[in-house]
Amino acid sequence: MALAGYPLGISVQAVDVADNKIVDPVTKQVINNSLNRLIEEVDTITVEFEHIPEDLLELVHGSGKLKPSVEAILTGADRVREKKLLEKLAIDNCPFEIITEVEQLDAAVEKLGEKLIIKASRDGYDGYGQWRLQNKSQLPELKEKLSQLDLHKIPLVVEKMLNFDRELSLVAVRSSNGDIAYYPLAENLHYQGQLHVSIAPAPQVDEALNQQAKTIFNKLAESLDYVGVLSVEFFQIGQQLLVNEIAPRVHNSGHWTMQGADTCQFENHLRAVRGLPLGSTKVTSPTAMINIIGCKAFSRDMLSIPGCHLHWYGKTPRKKRKMGHFNLCADNYSELGKTMQALAEYLPVENFPMLKDEAARLI
Ligand code: ATP
Ligand code: MG
Ligand code: MG
Repeated sequence: MALAGYPLGISVQAVDVADNKIVDPVTKQVINNSLNRLIEEVDTITVEFEHIPEDLLELVHGSGKLKPSVEAILTGADRVREKKLLEKLAIDNCPFEIITEVEQLDAAVEKLGEKLIIKASRDGYDGYGQWRLQNKSQLPELKEKLSQLDLHKIPLVVEKMLNFDRELSLVAVRSSNGDIAYYPLAENLHYQGQLHVSIAPAPQVDEALNQQAKTIFNKLAESLDYVGVLSVEFFQIGQQLLVNEIAPRVHNSGHWTMQGADTCQFENHLRAVRGLPLGSTKVTSPTAMINIIGCKAFSRDMLSIPGCHLHWYGKTPRKKRKMGHFNLCADNYSELGKTMQALAEYLPVENFPMLKDEAARLI
């Protein structure tokens, strides 16, 4: 976001919510300033992560400079609030039960079936804070695990495990005067609850499906009077879209826009929250975004592949941590598949388990 702001003359400073440190997001240098003074000095405050300590969120909300609104951020951060909003707006989503006692799991199994995915209502991302139940025999063990949590403080959302056809997401941006610019739907491939590959535009999307996604986005964005980039994750079953979850921020499945669209999601988010006209979301080429997960430094030789772009975040390596991503651009899906195949030759298969199969599918 800081890089996208630079050419517009927008300077971005980041607050690390773990310790309230103020950091220059490009150089990663700690800036010697107090949080209160920073809040006073800046024009606008926004978020790129929804799990923000309540006191900090209250503080920035009080400044009147926060966009999107505190309500939108809290809705994206709390699955119970999110489910309530989806129900209120009559938006189809995954069948669920909210529980505050481990013993309520039995009734949930009766209602939803024995294949379940159980999600902590707060603080989860990248599949963290989730448990899966494959059959009833695993129930005692699962209950034992969950009994260590304080479910009255953080309830669980128990969802039916869906056998969907594929996952899609819609990333779009809304300005304060209500203009909306949509990126096309992206197709997302997850592995162990974590996004590995996005293909954009998603292949085989007809106008009806597109319209369904846009209508859902409009309902959500308008009800939250949303300003900025909002992302909606879907499960596609046949011709129907069910909302999985929403993210009140720029989204990993929108990273492809850095090379594949006229204006990237980061720039459009800044434009919206700064009250500037939105930029064109036109696609410039089919793009594959490939996450680099849990991988240490590696050779950069793959940059010889035409259309291959690397974004390296410079974070300390950790298992399952997103360290960076590739954006691959090509003239058509078949060429894109070949480019993915070429990339796969440079990378360890254990970190990129979806790459070869997805490449073959596109060719
Ligand atoms: P994110 O990093 O996107 O915020 P998250 O940790 O909030 O992820 P979800 O998006 O709820 O988690 O779930 C992660 C992934 O797990 C989904 O993208 C999907 O692949 C799978 N998943 C989640 N819920 C279900 C479900 N009800 N049925 C089947 N698969 C599911
Ligand atoms: Mg999430
Ligand atoms: Mg998700």
